[in-house]
Formats: sequence, C-alpha cells, structure tokens
Amino acid sequence: MHQEAGEPPAGVYRRHLESGRLGFQRCAGCGAAVFYPRVVCPVCGSADLTWETSSGRGIVYATTAVYRREGDPYSVVLVDLEEGFRMMSRVESAPAEEVEIGARVTLRVDHEGDEPIPVFVLRDEER
Ligand SMILES: [Zn+2]
Repeated sequence: MHQEAGEPPAGVYRRHLESGRLGFQRCAGCGAAVFYPRVVCPVCGSADLTWETSSGRGIVYATTAVYRREGDPYSVVLVDLEEGFRMMSRVESAPAEEVEIGARVTLRVDHEGDEPIPVFVLRDEER
C-alpha cells in the first residue's frame, strides 16, 4: 500500500487497519521499524520511510489490568511485534488478570463504530 502525495501517515495507517492489516514504516536510511507512523525516522531523521505490513504476531512486553466501576477489568498491553516495533493495545480474548508477560499474541482488527481498532488475542486461540 502506497502513501499518496500529501497524505498524512496516520491516514495510510488507518487504511491498512480498514483492510484488516497492521501497517508500519521501515526507514530506508537506518533500517529501523517505525511505529506509530511518522513523517521522519525518529532514529536517524530520514524522511525516506516505506510502508510494510506486519505479520501481526508479537509477544506481550508489559501488561496491566485496568479496573472499572462496571464490567470486567480490561488489559492494557505493550506488544513487541516480530518486525521490531512496540505498540500499546489490549488483549481481548482472555481475562485481563490472565494476560502474562511473554504471552504470544496475534493482531485482530475490531471496530468501534466506524473506527478500526487494533487489538490482540492470545496466539493459542488463533483460528
Ligand atoms: Zn532511520
């Protein structure tokens, strides 16, 4: 998927999600995986960023159960994707207390209204 002239990176990112994919950028200058999408590489400052699609497979780096007044707690996680970037998300397939550091997870795109939301499910429950 290509970035059209003048299109902000967040727009390209959203189009990836709308087609069920997690997009990230790779810096042609230093090779870094860049996420959240940007105009220039945060490592070396290059503006030569190309889009790639993540496998969606990752490992939970950190997890927190967030308790709310009503309903079950939900998990906020940091996931290290196998392409080498880290993102904040949540795990939807298991009780928050059961999400452990090191758990293998896979991306799933949910929708809240018109908004595509990247979440994760535990890999063992992958279908
Ligand atoms: Zn770079």
